[in-house]
Amino acid sequence: MKYRVGFVSNSSSSSFVCVICGEEHSGMDVGLEEAEMVECDNGHIFCVEHLIKKNEQGEEVYSEYGEPITNEDDEDEDEDYGEWRYHIPPAHCPVCQFQAADDNDIMWYYLITNNLTKKEWATMIKNLHENYESFNQWLKAGRDKLNKKSKEATK
Ligand SMILES: [Zn+2]
Ligand SMILES: [Zn+2]
Repeated sequence: MKYRVGFVSNSSSSSFVCVICGEEHSGMDVGLEEAEMVECDNGHIFCVEHLIKKNEQGEEVYSEYGEPITNEDDEDEDEDYGEWRYHIPPAHCPVCQFQAADDNDIMWYYLITNNLTKKEWATMIKNLHENYESFNQWLKAGRDKLNKKSKEATK
């Protein structure tokens, strides 16, 4: 699952969307480094700030700014420069650790547990809402409510 979209031939305009907070970073020749994002081995792309910085032993293995703290003796820095961003182990990814959720996973989980195809879902919503605008308003109101709940939970 890659969130890298919008490649245009001959130029390399790309964009990254954080799977956790939804922040988007796009531009010409933007890589994960410029976007200040990382990618885990399961393809989750997220802002460096969400990284789980400690290992199982409780030791900091990523710095405050998200850089890996490595043992200089066993690291060939020139060869590995920047590559770490694309290979974050699942132990350091909040989505892989179920501390955060991927929208796409939520959607599929919902459809699977309700045994609904996307088409069946659309028909169901059509029967519940007059038109798309009213459905959109319903979504917005519901989101505001959940965001408020989420903020209160982290207080
Ligand atoms: Zn983010
Ligand atoms: Zn992950």
